[in-house]
Amino acid sequence: MSTVTARTGPSVSQSPVNLRGETPPADRYPRQSLVSGWDQDALRQASAIVAGAGALGNEVIKSLALMGIGHLTIVDFDTVAHSNLSRTILFREGDIGFPKAEIAAQRVRELNPEVSVRAIVGDIATDLGLGELARATMVFGCLDSIGARWAINRRCLEAGIGWINGGTNEWHGEVARYDATEGACYECTMTDQMFARMHGRFECGFRITGASDVPMASTSSLSSVIAGIQVSEALQVVMGTGAGASPGFDPHLRPGQRLTVQLRPYRMHVDDLPWSDMCLAHPAGPPEAPVRVDRPWEATTAMDVLEAARAIDPGVDCLAIGYELVTEIACDACGTRQDVLRRRTHTTLQAMTCPGCDAPFSFATNWFIHSGTPLALRPLREIGLPRHEWVRAYRSTSPDAPGILMELGGSDPLTN
Ligand SMILES: [Zn+2]
Ligand SMILES: [Zn+2]
Repeated sequence: MSTVTARTGPSVSQSPVNLRGETPPADRYPRQSLVSGWDQDALRQASAIVAGAGALGNEVIKSLALMGIGHLTIVDFDTVAHSNLSRTILFREGDIGFPKAEIAAQRVRELNPEVSVRAIVGDIATDLGLGELARATMVFGCLDSIGARWAINRRCLEAGIGWINGGTNEWHGEVARYDATEGACYECTMTDQMFARMHGRFECGFRITGASDVPMASTSSLSSVIAGIQVSEALQVVMGTGAGASPGFDPHLRPGQRLTVQLRPYRMHVDDLPWSDMCLAHPAGPPEAPVRVDRPWEATTAMDVLEAARAIDPGVDCLAIGYELVTEIACDACGTRQDVLRRRTHTTLQAMTCPGCDAPFSFATNWFIHSGTPLALRPLREIGLPRHEWVRAYRSTSPDAPGILMELGGSDPLTN
């Protein structure tokens, strides 16, 4: 019979008493509070959205959790792979195969139970409503593809919120601040070659299966440098504005500026990114406040939204959903026909080929849902609209009018 000695680990419980029987001081953040101009309350009231829980995302999430950010939303559609473990402090071998966003959120709860954290296993471009982006204090782009950066830029500009982009490659990296109202945006900086690489993942608007960007050389040391600067920029946003702001927290980068960091040899420089007149991402006017549809998002249909919009304009009869929805596919050769409700950009070319005849399906798509159609009675959740998403109600007779901006799930809390 072997003797088992019970391991005394740190208590996760109730009692604020440490292993020596002492009551630790109530303040968790005494050292950072010594930083001149530091405002822990402002940080506690702030909410951050981190898009991407890879190498950069892990470092950003770790720092925000340790520092005591109030609310943290982690968005990533991917699962933990063995190849992530050399660059991701929050993941363990036992996490392989599980969603990165959920594992990262779980580790945040262990690192700092004071942080309210949630995971969204999905895509920042399609699975987080514009209302959520608009109400965040800061958005971090910790992404590894041009397409994902293009999408987060479009979404943040539409929601009227700035974002902080990070990127790394071998021994150099960059941090850039983008804003909806000032300076160049990410899309302004995109070259023809970058657009070609982004569009190379699609054919006729459908996704090419298995297409992905070439992986960049990456080390955890560079990721932590770049992520540290991203977080530092965010602290300027949180603490460097408002009446009581400390001069020490003046923003370092203005919107439309990029900091490039080189580790071999050491060099840092800031440049002003050029604004492009050709850029299609900039909003037409100042941010609008949407009308909130006061119904639970799960059950809200296009008819519910139109009825709410009719309190403002009784003539509205169609809803612009903001993307192209494939509604039907058919094979002209064998007569197969199927109803589908899927974004065109989420539909693979493979899914658009008849498995029986190997012939391409013909298909129907829609950008609008019209009052009185069967689609108008389906919950919008079923066609892929996320909670707190913004949609626009129109009169079909005047499609050039601005329409009425509506937010789904107006009565739902943000943290669900
Ligand atoms: Zn732009
Ligand atoms: Zn067929």
